[in-house]
Formats: sequence, structure tokens, C-alpha cells
Amino acid sequence: MSALRYTPDIEVTEARLRAAIDNNELKLLYQPKLALRGEGMDELEGVEALVRWDDPLNGLRSPMDFIPLAEKTGLIIPLSFYVLRHAVTQTRLWHEQGLPLTVSVNLPAIMVNDLSLPDQVAAILNDAGLPSDKLILEITETGAMVDFATTIESLTRLRVKGIGLSIDDFGTGYSSLVELYRMPFSELKVDRSFVMECDQAAEARTIVEAIVQLAHKMELTVCAEGVESKSVLDLLRSLGCQKVQGFFISRPIHAAEVTEFARRFSAKSRG
Ligand code: C2E
Ligand code: MG
Ligand code: MG
Repeated sequence: MSALRYTPDIEVTEARLRAAIDNNELKLLYQPKLALRGEGMDELEGVEALVRWDDPLNGLRSPMDFIPLAEKTGLIIPLSFYVLRHAVTQTRLWHEQGLPLTVSVNLPAIMVNDLSLPDQVAAILNDAGLPSDKLILEITETGAMVDFATTIESLTRLRVKGIGLSIDDFGTGYSSLVELYRMPFSELKVDRSFVMECDQAAEARTIVEAIVQLAHKMELTVCAEGVESKSVLDLLRSLGCQKVQGFFISRPIHAAEVTEFARRFSAKSRG
């Protein structure tokens, strides 16, 4: 992956983004997600796939640079299928190497508003040879209008196939209680804006604590993202949070680095 280039920002256009998808310029990084099992016994349970654009004219681009345009133009659909295919294929390779990771892939809510999605996802899993319970779809709500009945039906079909469903960035923007109440999620991700400050700000701590309890009562696995320090990790552990992700554990890394991370991590856990 090329280093950042110091050229003036070249505008992201629909045509250039479309070409980037066709020319394989999108690259995936993977960020470890740990299952908390008690100090020294935590496990590397899975990774979240995070897209980057290795733009030949502008260097490496953050998803914040191009996901909004992708959503506006509909390119988010081919982009998401690209990410999904690459992520499950890579995860199958890890399985073959004896690393049975779960992979989380981000999907905008607008794509779930389609009854053909569950079979399309199942076909991608089948092609890659990855069991469906090794995929979690992290649904991000961007405020686009969706038809509730279709979305619930589509999410239910995905769950019936054994695919995990996570409500991403919970507590901000459009990730609301209505969704929790009516939709068959299996995981809730506490937004990093609260997690990052929960050891410093009493209000952030109260919010994290309440969200963790809410998730427990609704029998959802709770994952905190944005864990940047040991003190936040310790606090989350004491609150009963089951999964964590953040720079304190690892930044997003290349696929090749994941095996090394897993090896070092399990050696450390064994003591
Ligand atoms: P997200 O799904 O909530 O992903 C987590 C983001 O938090 C990632 O940013 C990750 O690098 C960052 N992060 C992780 N740990 C920490 C931490 O300890 N501190 C801080 N400050 N940040 C942390 P990234 O990779 O820039 O992605 C940003 C957002 O872009 C994602 O948020 C997601 O909404 C979207 N995105 C990324 N990849 C995809 C994709 O393949 N498809 C779609 N639709 N959206 C994507
Ligand atoms: Mg996510
Ligand atoms: Mg998130």
C-alpha cells in the first residue's frame, strides 16, 4: 500500500470511485476484536474489515473520504459486495491456517432494505467456504429512508442463516432504540465517542454503563469500540462488556499481520 502523497487533494468523483472498485484499488485492513474472558484469558475472537482506497493520484484515502459519496451515488452496493467477498475469502484462508476468526463487515442500512440480500450474502459465504456464523454484518444507519417491514424481514432471514447482526455506533446519530426493539440484532457496538472518555468523564461512563446493561437485558453481545487505554479496558471489563476493539489492543492492520498478532496474543495470554 503506497504511503501518503503530498499532492493537493484530488476530488473524489463518482467516475473515479467506480473505476477504483473495478481496478481493485480498494484495500482492506483488519482490526482485532477481543472477547474478554478475564485478565490473561482474553481471546482474539475476530476482526473488523475496514476499507481504504489506495488512490494512485492521491495516496491512501480514509473511508470518510469516499463512503458518503458511495452512499449518495449507489456505488455503496458494488463497494460493499467487493468488501464482503474479499473479507470472507481472507477469513476462510485464516481458517485454513488454524485461526477460526469471525469477520465483521460494515453494511449501510439501505442495503438491508432488500429481500434479495440474504441469499446474495449466503452465496458469497458459500463460494468462499466460510460458515455463516463466522460473519457479522455491522449495520450503520445513515438516515436514509428504509421500509421497516422489508428491513425486519431481510434481517430475520440473515439471522435464520446464522449470520450475526450488529448495530454499529450505538448511541449516536440514527442508531436508535426503535431498531433495538424491533429488529433481530445479535450484537450492539457502543459508539467510540463514549468509550474513549468513559474513564475520564462521569457522563460518558454512565452512558456506557447503561448501554452495557441494556444490551445484557436484551440478550445481545456488547462490543465497545475505541478502547485506547488500559484504564478504559479495565473499566469495560468490570462493567461486564464482552468484546472490545481499539487502538490499545491494535490499530487496523494488514491481513498478513493478523496471524502474527494472533500468535503474539495467544503467547501473551498463556503467560
Ligand atoms: P466503524 O465501523 O465504527 O469503524 C470503527 C472506526 O473506528 C475505524 O475507522 C477504526 O479505525 C476506528 N477506531 C478503532 N479503534 C479506535 C480507537 O481506539 N480510537 C479511535 N479514535 N478510533 C478507532 P475507519 O477505518 O476510518 O472507518 C470509519 C468508518 O467508515 C467506519 O466506522 C464505518 O462506518 C465506515 N467504513 C469503514 N469501512 C467500511 C466498509 O467497508 N463499508 C462501509 N459501508 N463502511 C465502512
Ligand atoms: Mg463498524
Ligand atoms: Mg462503529
